[in-house]
Amino acid sequence: MVDTLILLGPPGSGKGTQAALLRDELGFELLSTGALLRAAREAGTETGRRAAAFMDRGDLVPDDVVATVVEHAIAELAGRRVILDGFPRTVAQSEALDRMLEEIDRELLAVLYFQVPDELAVERLHVRSLQEGRTDDTPEIIRHRLEVFHKRTEPVVEYYRSKGILVGIHAERPIDAVFAEVQEVLETASTRQ
Ligand code: AMP
Repeated sequence: MVDTLILLGPPGSGKGTQAALLRDELGFELLSTGALLRAAREAGTETGRRAAAFMDRGDLVPDDVVATVVEHAIAELAGRRVILDGFPRTVAQSEALDRMLEEIDRELLAVLYFQVPDELAVERLHVRSLQEGRTDDTPEIIRHRLEVFHKRTEPVVEYYRSKGILVGIHAERPIDAVFAEVQEVLETASTRQ
């Protein structure tokens, strides 16, 4: 079934906000690896313990740890339309996802790439740090997370571009305008099926 949507973009691009809107307005299930990893940490599981130091530094958690988390979470959502928020973040994760989707008979509907200039991402993350107090939203770690995005996740953008399923989203605009664009893209993608 063509039922899986990927949201790609740097931290601060607003993909988490749009993912929540898609869940609330269009009934998608949300699978956010950042949220799952934070929950695992809080619950004190083995996965949470392995992930903690990487998360605090703003580094990526090892691919095998994240892939296992996704594999379990997606298995619980059989038959539902799913948004992947924050996964895949490396080409190895994209390849692991391809294998996973094939096994459970899912197909990608589209990959939405939320594009924002670094300066705007930094500004938004600064505001979020004041609101949510996330430990990985300090100025130095924010810079580092953006570097990690450019180095390790931009190749993922190219991976999907070459498959012809990447759609750029003008994510620098206000939330409502971005959501309207996302909905349009989804309609077009669905009519192509
Ligand atoms: P996020 O909430 O998506 O910004 O993720 C917060 C942190 O969780 C990231 O900075 C990483 O340390 C870790 N994380 C989330 N998703 C992944 C992923 N797909 N691969 C590796 N690490 C991840």
